[in-house]
Amino acid sequence: MGLERLNSLYREVILDHSDHPHHKHALPDATHKITLKNPTCGDVINLDIDLDDHDKIKDIGFTGDGCTISQSSASMMTDAVMGKSKEQALHMAKTFSDMVMGKKHPQADLDELQDAAILSNVMTFPARIKCATLSWWALQRALLKQPDGSVDSDDSDKGE
Ligand code: ZN
Repeated sequence: MGLERLNSLYREVILDHSDHPHHKHALPDATHKITLKNPTCGDVINLDIDLDDHDKIKDIGFTGDGCTISQSSASMMTDAVMGKSKEQALHMAKTFSDMVMGKKHPQADLDELQDAAILSNVMTFPARIKCATLSWWALQRALLKQPDGSVDSDDSDKGE
């Protein structure tokens, strides 16, 4: 799996998250739910997000199975976005997917990702990029999902 090639400090943080994942539980009353799969590796994530009335992430949890990278990424992602607004969380998801593709970001954006910033190192393993981004895609798609189940990729036409 190639993890042994990672710097040992990074590897330790990644293994700690996958062995003891944070927020790994379902939220029965979540306002936003999604299931995403990464067929190339067999990773599955069920993500539950509970937004409060001000679109702030009140609680977040995930269940599912997958490789070390996908599990630890989901754990890191839930840590990073807990308590953030929907907009902040979407910005962080964008930062993360840009980061693993090798795009540069201001240090402040990377700091906001907390432990998840460590996963920038997976871009040296192209096969693992989808494992790392799965939970962030789930976050993005769940937050952009409309009550009717459709995915709104353009945030400009919020008719209320
Ligand atoms: Zn995987």
